[in-house]
Amino acid sequence: MLIDFVLNISLTISGIYLFHRIQYTEDSARLSSPMFQVTLMVTLAVLLLFVPIEYRGYSFSLFFVPMLLIQNKVHIKIAGMVIVGAAHYFLIGHSLIEIVIFAGLYLIVVFSIPFFKSVNTNIITWVNLIFTLLFLTGIHLFIQPLVLMQFVIISAMSSAVMVTASIMYQDINSMVKVLKRLNTEDYVDHLTQLGNIKALDNEVNRLSQKAENVSMLLIDIDHFKVVNDMHDYTAGDAVIKQITGLLKNYVPTGGSIYRNGGEEFAMLIPDISFDKTVRLAEAIRNAVENTKFHVGENEVIMLTVSVGIGFKTQKISRRELFKDADNMLHAAKKMGQNQVMFSPIIK
Ligand code: GH3
Ligand code: MG
Ligand code: MG
Repeated sequence: MLIDFVLNISLTISGIYLFHRIQYTEDSARLSSPMFQVTLMVTLAVLLLFVPIEYRGYSFSLFFVPMLLIQNKVHIKIAGMVIVGAAHYFLIGHSLIEIVIFAGLYLIVVFSIPFFKSVNTNIITWVNLIFTLLFLTGIHLFIQPLVLMQFVIISAMSSAVMVTASIMYQDINSMVKVLKRLNTEDYVDHLTQLGNIKALDNEVNRLSQKAENVSMLLIDIDHFKVVNDMHDYTAGDAVIKQITGLLKNYVPTGGSIYRNGGEEFAMLIPDISFDKTVRLAEAIRNAVENTKFHVGENEVIMLTVSVGIGFKTQKISRRELFKDADNMLHAAKKMGQNQVMFSPIIK
């Protein structure tokens, strides 16, 4: 009996682990489809039917544990139930009454689950325990009489498997959440919540396949070091946030803005003309020049920015877009700052 128990636990846990793990492999879009989940759980249920636990003349299978873990729509759960019922009958040769008891109880669970606000480990363990007890009662009444000890041992086994399985299930879920958050944080700048240089890089790649031309504005605050020196780092941070707010207002539809690092920002706009790009850059420069930035409760300062323009047409590579914008930004700084610079030769 012990060996049956161990076999059942291992099969259930590894099956559920496999299902969950595969969902988060690279090709997860296809694998996390509802059909994939139900296929794996049904396969697991059928496998469990083949390794019943033998106890005091009654051979018992934990096939319903994975079935109770299926989180799909009602009709998919019912389809799974039908398949498992058929396997039960045709492959294992269990009596029709046993299958009817399982199906009846399973349908009750399927239709009552939506009434729970959330289905957590606690609820699913209780549902499983009640399911097991009712299932055994059905067997006791209609198939073969069972003794109390069989009820106790089998319910305990079923609960142990379910608790372990659902803890693991939730554990993987929370791990995946953390991973997802890390992945997004990888692309977001903490201070401004704008995309960072990696996000910028991705967007340049995406746009260069999609857009006819791409405009890039590199916007750098002039003498920003002085803000930190004259006030403090917190004031500097506050200024970076305020300028972020201002710049966001100037992003045209379809465009996007990033913080490259420090006090430098990048704006990307697909498919606008070179002239419009220059006018937009000039409007931004002008707006910053005329804005008061708060560095303390009652203290404001004035700032300026220098802007370098890169303009990518079909002939220009992504690298050149960056390089051109950066060269132009340096030129603007050299020209005395508070300037918009662009290469007069459009390639
Ligand atoms: P330039 O006009 O040539 O651009 O000079 P600058 O002082 O603006 O540029 P520089 O590159 O010499 O200095 C940038 C400063 O920005 C130095 C750094 O301490 C500050 N800085 C970078 N990131 C942050 C930040 O997140 N918060 C604050 N408060 N300061 C930052
Ligand atoms: Mg600067
Ligand atoms: Mg800089």
